[in-house]
Amino acid sequence: MGKVIAIANQKGGVGKTTTSINLGSCLAQMGLKILLVDSDPQGNTTSGLGIDRSVLKRCLYDLLIPTESGYSLNDVIQASSVSNLWLVPTTIRLAGAEVELVTVIGREYRLKETLKDVINEYDYIFVDCPPSLGLLTINALSCANAMLIPIQCEYYALEGLGQLLNTLKAVKNLLNSQLEIFGVLLTMYDVRTNLSQQVAQEIQRVFGDKVFKTIIPRNVRLSEAPSFGQPVITYDRYSTGAEAYLNLAKEVLARDGKKKSW
Ligand code: ADP
Ligand code: MG
Repeated sequence: MGKVIAIANQKGGVGKTTTSINLGSCLAQMGLKILLVDSDPQGNTTSGLGIDRSVLKRCLYDLLIPTESGYSLNDVIQASSVSNLWLVPTTIRLAGAEVELVTVIGREYRLKETLKDVINEYDYIFVDCPPSLGLLTINALSCANAMLIPIQCEYYALEGLGQLLNTLKAVKNLLNSQLEIFGVLLTMYDVRTNLSQQVAQEIQRVFGDKVFKTIIPRNVRLSEAPSFGQPVITYDRYSTGAEAYLNLAKEVLARDGKKKSW
């Protein structure tokens, strides 16, 4: 059974895209078949994998907004430079989807409809959400089995989380009863600061064992890799960032009771 995980937090800059690319790539390198869905109109997952958005003829938008041409997933999916890792790319056209979806019948389920025939072809499908709780995020949560919440270890870390959890509750009640929190991921942890430690402790107090044991450190290689169109695992395999995302991948597999093959 394929598992769909929405990587969501309506705050920008908390590490959603970095986690999508790098968790996806690590699992792919371990031999699992992975699909990333870039559901943020900014398209950083797409460009971070070295795909030039400006030349793309079709993207996620064409799947979410029904048209007469009726594109299928196969018309849109791209292979990436990492074997076993596939991508549903996005372009700036997706920015229109948030508004255009409002009048579409079954607007909350367009992504679910799009992915339903391929879910079992992949081990994991990760949906990189935009920094909002609009219809693109609702679509991701409506089709996901679970949600992964990256939280940046900084002063306002917990701000807005109540809103995110209320959205989770509403989606669970109304649209997708199976939705659960898969895990909370602490990102951009700075070992040198007390603040990072305090925030991590506070989040562990609130979310208990939902918090992944793996903590992603602040690491410059993680922020450089996208400009080379690569995940950190190929850009600098021996960086602390690569190490951390490999550990996260192992923890994800362990949480799902899957065998480690690395
Ligand atoms: P989001 O998708 O939540 O907006 P990103 O993953 O794009 O967040 O991260 C925001 C910025 O922080 C990006 O420039 C990214 O390269 C950088 N970044 C993310 N995680 C780390 C990290 N662990 N260490 C250093 N820089 C990071
Ligand atoms: Mg992002």
